[in-house]
Amino acid sequence: QDEGQSSNGTDRELRAPICCILGHVDAGKTKLLDCIRRSNVLGGEAGGITQQIGATYLPVENIRERTSLKAEVAIKVPGLLVIDTPGHQSFSNMRLRGSSLSDVAVVVVDITRGLERQTIESLELLKHSNVRFIVALNKVDRLYGWKTCPNAPIVKALKNQSDDVQRDFRWRVTEVVTQLMESGFNAALYYENKKIKQVVNIVPTSAVSGEGIPDLLLLLVRWVPEIMVERLTYVSTVECTVLEVNEDKDFGTTIDTVLINGALQKGDQIVVCTKQGPVTTNIRYLLTPYPMKELKVKGQGVYKHHEEVKAAQGVKISARGLQHAMAGTALIVVKAGDDLERAEAAAVHEISKIISLINDDERDENEDEIAIHENSRIKTCSEGVYVQAPSLGTLEAIIEYLKTLPVAIPVSGCNIGPVHKLDVIKATSMLKRKREYAAILAFDVKVIPEAFELAAEAGVKIFMADTIYKLVDSFTDHINKLNEEMKKQFAADTVFPCTLKILPNCVYHSKDPIVCDVEVLEGIAKVGTPICVCVPSKDRGADVIHGLGRIASMKTSNGKEVNSAMNGVVSIKIIGDNPQERSRLYGRHFNADNELLSQISRKSIDVLKEYFREEMSAESWELILRLKKQLGIP
Ligand code: GDP
Repeated sequence: QDEGQSSNGTDRELRAPICCILGHVDAGKTKLLDCIRRSNVLGGEAGGITQQIGATYLPVENIRERTSLKAEVAIKVPGLLVIDTPGHQSFSNMRLRGSSLSDVAVVVVDITRGLERQTIESLELLKHSNVRFIVALNKVDRLYGWKTCPNAPIVKALKNQSDDVQRDFRWRVTEVVTQLMESGFNAALYYENKKIKQVVNIVPTSAVSGEGIPDLLLLLVRWVPEIMVERLTYVSTVECTVLEVNEDKDFGTTIDTVLINGALQKGDQIVVCTKQGPVTTNIRYLLTPYPMKELKVKGQGVYKHHEEVKAAQGVKISARGLQHAMAGTALIVVKAGDDLERAEAAAVHEISKIISLINDDERDENEDEIAIHENSRIKTCSEGVYVQAPSLGTLEAIIEYLKTLPVAIPVSGCNIGPVHKLDVIKATSMLKRKREYAAILAFDVKVIPEAFELAAEAGVKIFMADTIYKLVDSFTDHINKLNEEMKKQFAADTVFPCTLKILPNCVYHSKDPIVCDVEVLEGIAKVGTPICVCVPSKDRGADVIHGLGRIASMKTSNGKEVNSAMNGVVSIKIIGDNPQERSRLYGRHFNADNELLSQISRKSIDVLKEYFREEMSAESWELILRLKKQLGIP
């Protein structure tokens, strides 16, 4: 049974396939596009080719005419819609929309250069998004000795060439086939290809003299419907993608879209994805550019108005509230009887899909700027909190604000709309990296119950507020509390640096507990600080370090108990932690010539760095460095 027919035998109505052109810079993408759009009739519209919004429409009659196709050969599609922006632009739109914008791609390869870097990137992208493609092996006219046969089918043009040219051509084709194989694709010249459904078709072309262009066009309108009849079947459900947001002097903000399936009518209610969340509005005007000849009629604008447009077409939409529309998102139509809330939920989903694409990209690079929309830049880093807001605009504002705080709050990920389980899962990645950042700052959005449960289980904190100040305050409180907890947990390992001088006539007890008056020379003496002495060895070897115990209490000269002292004279009591420390004797193991030092360790230094940075001055760090050397800490 013919694939173009439905099971009951009636013909399916197919829409025009949408095609985009990719390839390395200078391979000839622009030239090829010009060539496809070229009018055959001097000074007029060629066989109904119409310039559309962001695309060119070639009716099948035009293709028949250009390829001298016999009337009895059936073509199942009404025409071909070619996206006008070759290369990068349609590339990134496709990346955002996955495979749904273009049905098929033409990858342009310069026959004299073979596969280049951007060709390989294009192939990767197509493989990833599952889009079928044709290779246009362009610039055949550059082969040495090529005899030009303007607009001829390629087999005919090749027959006209000398043996040398044909040999050179063969050799270069083999080269490209091998390179494609290395990229994971089986490919063959399309007229020798026996498995058109599996093996990639190669069409040799010249965008300058037109050889092979008829072949490329025919392949697009015959091979494409052959392999994707389901996809090209016209359905009334609207599928429409926003290509660009534009300011128009007559119509205000408009969106340029590609209508992939279904039909749009003037007055239709639509939901547009914007940086401020979904916007529900009505189509005021449906516009396409006037064909060249009609433009000459005086007194009309640049655009033709339509009551209805049917897929596949490029169309400009004028409506209220499009200011913050996002390129690359779907436009949703709400027909009579459709549920508006559902459409809006779909738009939210669409927006968050784009945002999560950005998040994914950023996970690859430690700190990278990615544009969501030309005006919107969100910067994230590998360690930071997760932020969620109702719209892209708010999200950007919050992230900007967090950056400007006296102690900036870094952001590692973000999303728009209610907090779902997936957001919590993303935030858990901080549990291992930096526990205090395993948090979601949810600004003016709901948190679904399952997400709450998961967060409680996993240990991710969720903060909710409808003002940014409250949100930041509660998060800062949380950080401070966590810090206090940590300080308590590491109290035994917290050693602030100090050096103390024993006043020789003021040693009141020379053995555990040692009680004496000391002058604080440097740093800060605290109750709880472990104390040692560093005694030069008699036989000039390494210094001997004697631990004495911890400062158990401290009094000022007027008898007042204090917890710490930064200068002056204080009376201290040192109690040993272990038998060895308790055996140290003033006058025998050490004397007033030996300074008393904080007994710091690797661990104590790390604890100070992590939790007490704010309490440490530059001098204190210098003292740490000196003590480290003196006590032989690596
Ligand atoms: P793009 O960067 O891929 O869009 O490449 P362009 O279409 O701008 O082409 C780059 C250069 O190659 C231009 O100078 C074109 O005139 C030239 N060029 C493109 N296609 C052909 C071709 O088929 N034959 C020849 N001889 N030159 C070509």
